Amino acid sequence: MAVSEEVKKQYVPSIGIETHVQLSTKTKLFSAVGNDARGAASNSLISHIDTGMPGALPVLNQAAIEQCMRAALALNTQPQKFSRFERKHYFYPDLPKGYQITQLENPIIVGGFLNVPSPNGEFKVEIERANLEEDAGKNTHPEGANYSLVDLNRAGTPLLEVVSRPDIHSAAEAKAFAREMWLTMKYSGVTDGDLYMGHVRFDVNISVSKEPGKLGTRSEIKNLNSFRSVENAVAYEIDRQIELLEKGQKVVQETRGWDEAKQKSIGQRGKEEAQDYRYMPEPDIPPLDLEDEFIKNSCAEMPIMPQDWREMISNFGLGKAETETLLDAGTESIGHLINVREAMNSGEAFARYVANTIINIVLPFERYLLENGSKASTYNRMKIYKETFRLQKENKISSSNAKILIEKFLNPNTKNLDAEVEKQAEIEGLLQVSDEAEIEKIVAEVLSQNTKAAEDVKKGEMKAIGFLVGQVMVKSQGKANPQLAQDIIKKQLSL
Ligand code: MN
Repeated sequence: MAVSEEVKKQYVPSIGIETHVQLSTKTKLFSAVGNDARGAASNSLISHIDTGMPGALPVLNQAAIEQCMRAALALNTQPQKFSRFERKHYFYPDLPKGYQITQLENPIIVGGFLNVPSPNGEFKVEIERANLEEDAGKNTHPEGANYSLVDLNRAGTPLLEVVSRPDIHSAAEAKAFAREMWLTMKYSGVTDGDLYMGHVRFDVNISVSKEPGKLGTRSEIKNLNSFRSVENAVAYEIDRQIELLEKGQKVVQETRGWDEAKQKSIGQRGKEEAQDYRYMPEPDIPPLDLEDEFIKNSCAEMPIMPQDWREMISNFGLGKAETETLLDAGTESIGHLINVREAMNSGEAFARYVANTIINIVLPFERYLLENGSKASTYNRMKIYKETFRLQKENKISSSNAKILIEKFLNPNTKNLDAEVEKQAEIEGLLQVSDEAEIEKIVAEVLSQNTKAAEDVKKGEMKAIGFLVGQVMVKSQGKANPQLAQDIIKKQLSL
């Protein structure tokens, strides 16, 4: 049964999102074992603590606490001075201890909020709490095999679980929130934020209700690791719940999984209550009682956050979409944003030029290089931008040749690059010909070979002049100064 848009409008969806953020500490939360499992062989990053050997004692990693301090600030709140750990018991092969060390009663962050920009304007999502906990390992089920494999590299990796209030009211808002949370955590430097590696994962709680302010029964979809799957899963679940209610049935409180291939959610297990987990205080880790000095020092060098960047770089007439593209680029290399900020000191026109050059030339070329297994050269970017900007302003290079020149400088395989940008342009033959005598010669040729177009221009059909300028550009291999070419065409046709 498909529900009409008219019926859908009668329901208010409310969505709360739990974000699991993998902290980018050098070692795990409770053991001195490497935390970055990217590229590591299965079960190579484990110790007696991560494998839950009897008698193994966890030692809390101070760096993880420091990152939580920064995360609190990024979420617009202060960290809790007092917090403690609990054991949450459940049985699963990827959890050899039989319990997860997490925080229940006294999490390290309470409160906070995130302002989320969206196409329909900004909306605010309150943060209920965020707790520090350890991740579990990973089970894999080889196709056709009658066994499963367990990789414990991820066991004991520090996670910050950030729980939002159900302040999100559509699939589009859910996607926008997920991206903003990712940006916020990446910019604050608490995570590498590699979505492909599952560094940031989302659990979404969804309910619908006809009474605003009153929540319906919710279902939870766990372990989504892309913004798109958050959006699609929420949209699917809203429709599924409305259909059930319209048929006079009930929504069951349960955990559901998201099937990416089928774009469907599937019921997995029923409602769980806190008592099912037999929570108990963790006896091996004393409660945390943080000093003001420690909190202050941990947050001493807070980076510029996405919202501040937005305000800073939207000042010179850059569109919303362009601003967001730059922010995404900033998660790969903050250098791009720093270049734009630096360019602002030299005026709006230059800042806009740098922003657009990064978006239209540098980012696509960096992506191309990466796809071919190399990285852009470390040649001084600001020097390239300043020089190509000047050369274009002085009509010494066309925009298409400027692009070729910039790519030469970015390409690590370019040989014998001159230290001076203009000199390199000259060597490559990319500079425009502003030598009148030479252009006069080319124009004369073009006019004699295109008598029809020349006649049209004479009759006042100025459209045809564009064609003639184009011919001059072709003949000069793109090097003629087009304005000069146009002036000379007019002169030769005695216009
Ligand atoms: Mn969790």
